[in-house]
Amino acid sequence: MARSAGTCCAGSGGPLSAAERPELLLTHAYFLGPDRRRRGALYPLPPLQPAQVAAWLREKASARVELWDSTFRRGPSSFEVAVSRVRPAAVWIYTHPTTRLGAQRMLSAARRCGAAVLVSGPDSDLNPLLYLEAGADIVVPGDRMEAATLRALLALRASHHRFTVDSLAQVPGAVYLDDAYQLCSNGGRVAEIPLDELPWPEREPVQTRIHLGRWLDHRVPRSLALSSSRGCPLPCGFCSNSVFGRAYRRRSPESVVAEMRTLADSFAVDRLVFADEVFLFDGHWLAEFAACLSESGPPLAFEGSAHPGALDPASLSALVEAGLVRVELDAASGSDSLLRNLEWGYSPSDIYRAVADLRSYGLEVGLKVLVGLPGEGRADLDATLEMVQIIAPAGVEVCRADPNSPALFRKDWQRVIAGPVFEAAARLDTLPGPVLDVAAEWMSQLGRASGSDPFDQASRYLHRLRIPALRALLRALPSWPGTAAMEWKRRRRLPGPARKP
Ligand code: SF4
Repeated sequence: MARSAGTCCAGSGGPLSAAERPELLLTHAYFLGPDRRRRGALYPLPPLQPAQVAAWLREKASARVELWDSTFRRGPSSFEVAVSRVRPAAVWIYTHPTTRLGAQRMLSAARRCGAAVLVSGPDSDLNPLLYLEAGADIVVPGDRMEAATLRALLALRASHHRFTVDSLAQVPGAVYLDDAYQLCSNGGRVAEIPLDELPWPEREPVQTRIHLGRWLDHRVPRSLALSSSRGCPLPCGFCSNSVFGRAYRRRSPESVVAEMRTLADSFAVDRLVFADEVFLFDGHWLAEFAACLSESGPPLAFEGSAHPGALDPASLSALVEAGLVRVELDAASGSDSLLRNLEWGYSPSDIYRAVADLRSYGLEVGLKVLVGLPGEGRADLDATLEMVQIIAPAGVEVCRADPNSPALFRKDWQRVIAGPVFEAAARLDTLPGPVLDVAAEWMSQLGRASGSDPFDQASRYLHRLRIPALRALLRALPSWPGTAAMEWKRRRRLPGPARKP
């Protein structure tokens, strides 16, 4: 079943007439340019959440919506240009801790252009004040973002596209500032939409093809994301489960397979990626899904994520036959004591076992690693570096934990903080930021780098980067052909041991 695709005209052409202006311009705040992680095996996918909300608003409220994809733009200033030209009544921004600053600058730009601003997502759920003080009118609850955004849009229409405290108070679960600049919420909750009733995300053909073409240029599989579930019932420490909460719900296998086949027929795509918080979960559903996909036609290459403590090897055989080619494994740390203290629910042994199980089915394995965890010391980081070196994964996604995350103040976290790591945890970020950055860079570069002790190499690398003249030169000559060669040479000198055969 083909779904309607939105028209994204925010990126080119002249000002729009009143009839052409969208009611709502939806975007995320991820910019590929400044993201150093692109040097690893990562490649961003067209974002799902704004596209999902856009599809719901179009279907339920006949809203004039447009998507603005920030991925390949230069920065938040490009967004200001787009909003000035398109002049939507309102802007909706997806928030995430890693894109916070960009989102704040974008929402300020939208306010300057006279648009009402809605934000939604895990970061605004956890830190609503950060966004409201930066200029957002309303924080829409992220776990039910489609239904809540629809209510916000109806309230906005009723108040002539200008939010008032009265109109904001009509949106269940929304957070906003009242006339006295106090944080307010009416405390209600919109009803949850069954996942099979949600329309498939808007996938604007031109933007989608731009995404696919970019990754072909970088010789990575042309991939599109989709989602089969929401929520995560697993108990990892330092995870607030704040995107879609702990309640786990899943689409029917038939609906997921229909979307996969439609995507494969509509776009030149090499691989489909499940952007679920955890995909390899619930053996019964996975068996039904694999059977349904196998019956629907030839195998379709796809990948998903797994949790080392909840991997069921029995489901792998059928999934591999249906097209599973790669698994991203959560492997927060290689330190046994750190994982135990932070109540992560698995140990390094589980990680090694899971990798062996996955590889025994010929699957490619990527790792998702966290650095900068509370209480993490040099020995813990060494253990993580060693784990990555031993596993030699096909790609490592390294994230810096946010030591100020409100997840730290969850009720059940207090026990951890009061435990044996109290002193270290109280200081939170126990390793200096540059060390964590270098460790992250080294892990991302694992497949290409050569050298001995990463820390010795890393300190030399940092020392070199402190030469201001070199940094100024590299910044001043972004388009000089020699810059690429210098960058290539610099990366050849990055720290790290040779990859094991
Ligand atoms: S599997 Fe991912 S989403 Fe689920 S609890 Fe662990 S870290 Fe959080």
